[in-house]
Amino acid sequence: AKDQGRNRFNYFTPSMQEYAKYRMRLIHDLRQAVLNKEFELHYQPIVTMATGEVLKAEALLRWFHPERGSVSPAEFIPVAEDTGLIVEIGNWVFEQAARQSAQWRKTLGVEIQISVNKSPIQFRDEGALLHNWLELLQQLDVTGAGVCVEITEGLLLDASMGVTEKLLAYRDAGVQVSLDDFGTGYSSLAYLKKFDIDYLKIDQSFTRNIDTDENDHTLCEAIIVMAHKLGMKVIAEGVETEAQRQVLLRAGCDYGQGYLFSKPVSASEFASKYLLT
Ligand code: C2E
Ligand code: CA
Ligand code: CA
Ligand code: CA
Repeated sequence: AKDQGRNRFNYFTPSMQEYAKYRMRLIHDLRQAVLNKEFELHYQPIVTMATGEVLKAEALLRWFHPERGSVSPAEFIPVAEDTGLIVEIGNWVFEQAARQSAQWRKTLGVEIQISVNKSPIQFRDEGALLHNWLELLQQLDVTGAGVCVEITEGLLLDASMGVTEKLLAYRDAGVQVSLDDFGTGYSSLAYLKKFDIDYLKIDQSFTRNIDTDENDHTLCEAIIVMAHKLGMKVIAEGVETEAQRQVLLRAGCDYGQGYLFSKPVSASEFASKYLLT
């Protein structure tokens, strides 16, 4: 056992050093990315399940680093959160999404609701920014259907976040709220009635096998019935096949998002594919 312990130690030390170095570089590059404007938003359509109509989109952050190439948000968002850089990045994301929504309305005459992701840390630290954003929305005349904020379940359980006040401020400004990755976090069923949530997004771990796994099917059906009874609409994430879409449609799911409809695309591709037709 002692030997094993030593081997493990020997095995992990270099890789931990590697990891620390890798992280330091990533943090450095991420700081540069903010300054050099290496970020871009891509948009993934959220379609009406029954008709395929595109009235919503989720904004997903893309980072194009000159040497790294495209870096996945799954890789850099956690680091941005740890370092606090997420606040500045998130500010950019919100503003960009609001401007895009306003621009599409003005130039194309279409109202597309754009959802932005908000990690718990962003939500906690947004304080004064929240006021600026709501002002920006007023300036841009983006209200009602224009923007939506995606938050996760864990947030609703944390009393220190000022969730109630912030969600009310969003609501006053006409910003809608989605509960992202539903079913993967802490169970928050009691909180669904406490907060005014507009959309519940069923995580793709539930939709993945919905057409073959009886339990997943049952769970999705139950989630949809519950959400509707509580006055929420349901968006299924990760819809990849027509078979999945059929099952979800029969279960009464309102909206779908996933590769079956489209992967996330650039703003110009989104406009030419979904808004100019
Ligand atoms: P998420 O909010 O759950 O976003 C959905 C993710 O699923 C996206 O990955 C999307 O590209 C991917 N996806 C969409 N349809 C399908 C499908 O049919 N099959 C599969 N397998 N995947 C699908 P992406 O863009 O890599 O983003 C990963 C995560 O990074 C997001 O998960 C979100 O938590 C986070 N993220 C992205 N942009 C932002 C941002 O601006 N701010 C914050 N705080 N987080 C962000
Ligand atoms: Ca999301
Ligand atoms: Ca999600
Ligand atoms: Ca509601």
